[in-house]
Amino acid sequence: MRQVAIYGKGGIGKSTTTQNLTSGLAEMGKHIMVVGCDPKADSTRLLLGGLAQKTVLDTLREEGDDVDLDSILKAGYGNIKCVESGGPEPGVGCAGRGIITSINMLEQLGAYTDDLDYVFYDVLGDVVCGGFAMPIREGKAQEIYIVASGEMMAMYAANNISKGIYKFASSGGVRLGGIICNSRKVDNEYELLDSFAKKLGSQLIYFVPRSPEVTKAEINKQTVIQYDPKAKQADEYRALAKAIDGNDMFVVPKPMAQEELEAILMEHGLMDA
Ligand code: ADP
Ligand code: MG
Repeated sequence: MRQVAIYGKGGIGKSTTTQNLTSGLAEMGKHIMVVGCDPKADSTRLLLGGLAQKTVLDTLREEGDDVDLDSILKAGYGNIKCVESGGPEPGVGCAGRGIITSINMLEQLGAYTDDLDYVFYDVLGDVVCGGFAMPIREGKAQEIYIVASGEMMAMYAANNISKGIYKFASSGGVRLGGIICNSRKVDNEYELLDSFAKKLGSQLIYFVPRSPEVTKAEINKQTVIQYDPKAKQADEYRALAKAIDGNDMFVVPKPMAQEELEAILMEHGLMDA
C-alpha cells in the first residue's frame, strides 16, 4: 500500500488534481482511499457526485465515540473510498486536529485494508505545521507530491513545504516524489517549475495544463475523467496517474534560501534583478 500526501498552497488545485488523478488510477484497476485533510471538507466532492459527506469530526460530535466505518467512509467513482476529516467549529481549536482524529479513527475501524493499493491524503497547508504535518510526521504518508504553479506564492509555499519534509525525513522515511505543476499559464512556466524542482533535488513529475474542461466537470460535480472521458484533459490526468504509478524518484528535498528562490524567478524573467 502506497500512502501518498498531496500538499500545496490553498486554491492551487490539490483537491481537483487528487480526485482526477485517483480516478485515473482507478481506471487502471487500482484500489484507492482518499482522505480529505482540509477543514473545507471538499476533497471528495467530485468523486461522490457532490454528495455532502459527513465529516469524521461532525460524526464524532453528533454520534459520540461509537462510530461505524460506513458512516464516515463512502465509495465514490471507480469505487474510490472517500473520507473527509473536517475541522473544528470555526474559531475553535486547531484546524489540524481533525486529521489526527480521523486517521486514528480510520485505523481503529480497520479502514486500511490489505487490498488497497493507494491511500491519498489531500492536505491543506502552506506550511507544514501542527496537525497538518501529521501524515508525514507520524510516518503515515511516505510519499509527498507538491502541487505548485509558476506563481511566486505557490512556489514560496512549495519551498516551505519542502522544509517540513526535510525536517521529518531525517527521523522518518518520508520522501518527496515530485512537483506537480498545475498551470496558471505563467510565462515560461514549464521551464520555471522544472528548474525549481531540480533545485530541490526532485523532479517536475507532470505539467497539468489549465483547462475549461476542469471547470465544466466541476460544475457537474464530477471529475473530468468521469464527466468527459474523451476530453484532452482526461488524458492529461491519466498521464499524471501513470507517472505517479511508475515513479521511482523519492528524495529528501533540499529546500532553498529565499535568495535562491528569487534567483530562479529572475533567471526565468519573472522578477527584476
Ligand atoms: P485546493 O484544493 O488546492 O484548495 P481546488 O482543487 O479546490 O484547490 O481548486 C481551486 C479551483 O481551481 C477549483 O475551482 C478548480 O476547478 C480550479 N482548477 C484546478 N485545477 C484546474 C485546472 N487544471 N484547470 C482549470 N481549473 C482548475
Ligand atoms: Mg482542496
